[in-house]
Amino acid sequence: MNNTVNYNIKPNQLGYFGNFGGNYLPEDLKNEFKNIEEAFNEAINNEEFNRELNYLLKHYAGRPSPVTFAKNLSEKYGAEIYLKREDLNHTGAHKINHSLGEALLAKRMGKKKLIAETGAGQHGVATATAAALMGLECDIYMGAVDIVKEKPNVDRMKILGANIISVESGTKTLKEAVDEAFIAYSKEYETAMYAIGSAVGPHPFPMIIEYFQSVIGREAREQFVEMTNVLPDCVVACVGGGSNSIGMFSGFLEDKDVKIFGVEPLGKGVKLGENAASLTYGKEGIIHAFKCLVLQDENGNVANAYSVASGLDYPGVGPKHCYLKEIGRVTYDVISDKEAIDAFYELSKTEGIIPALESSHAVAYSLKLAKKYPNEKILVNLSGRGDKDIEFVLKTKHI
Ligand SMILES: *Cc1c(COP(=O)(O)O)cnc(C)c1O
Repeated sequence: MNNTVNYNIKPNQLGYFGNFGGNYLPEDLKNEFKNIEEAFNEAINNEEFNRELNYLLKHYAGRPSPVTFAKNLSEKYGAEIYLKREDLNHTGAHKINHSLGEALLAKRMGKKKLIAETGAGQHGVATATAAALMGLECDIYMGAVDIVKEKPNVDRMKILGANIISVESGTKTLKEAVDEAFIAYSKEYETAMYAIGSAVGPHPFPMIIEYFQSVIGREAREQFVEMTNVLPDCVVACVGGGSNSIGMFSGFLEDKDVKIFGVEPLGKGVKLGENAASLTYGKEGIIHAFKCLVLQDENGNVANAYSVASGLDYPGVGPKHCYLKEIGRVTYDVISDKEAIDAFYELSKTEGIIPALESSHAVAYSLKLAKKYPNEKILVNLSGRGDKDIEFVLKTKHI
């Protein structure tokens, strides 16, 4: 009996998964990223580091998050649907898993400050939380437009003690925030650590983020087998930059009978600028110093990404997802704004769980899969809770 295949995929020495990934930073920063890689490899083999990380995940973040059998949804849609409850973590999403890891690593390297960018503010809040806990300074770069739009998260970050730096260039949103955060970091890297918010960026960050998020897949696999005695037939997660999904998928990549689905935001439609489905509509290119599938026009200019779920609207995507798509191990598909909002209400009303709009994309897709595979078991990663989205959703669609 052999139901496993070797999908234990690691980047090569230069940080590539196939054609994707790498590190296109200027030389001095490249050296610093080498230091980060060395510190990371040392840390994850260090008993003390792992003990501290596991302690925080359990006693601070609240892990393990449970797996919930969605009984009502299953009866209504046919298949058995299970939810991995990352929404129950401290701060309300999976991001705390990598933020705690990055902050611990920064401390271990003797850094005094975390620098991060944020769009909707979710990554900023998780980073500010970890910084507060570990006594690190925290500078969060955020577009001026986003600062107005995402006031509750800005207030949260301020309460947690972070400095918010308003970015006034270009469209004054996420892309410019990343650019300016990197400029600041390149002047301060001797005393500061960059805390990336997803499985993106130059090597070694995609590998580091996957490592810290792989706790999701490890737990989920064990919990699922304990509940059902078998593996799921389908595993589903939403893909923005790709951190919650790669964490979940990493637990199942080698189980060849498990079908794996990554769900991208179709937003308002298929036209450039209407969606943020980089794996589906992107072309190979370089964004923020790594190679991946990028949404771009015919001249190679990076397009604006859009989704109703602001945590998903990045025009690039993690390099390992690009590779998993290319080798056909994971199927990537899209869900529209409307389908996601419908699923937001459906899960709330049927199961009493209000999902984040990002996670609602994965829920919506699982309902489609349930119709296609009525006798199967589907495991969905519920990456976060929807409290942050309530005001917006009510304005968009009344109950
Ligand atoms: C940020 C966020 C995402 C998207 O980020 P990934 O790196 O693709 O996981 C998904 N869900 C929630 C709740 C988020 O906050």
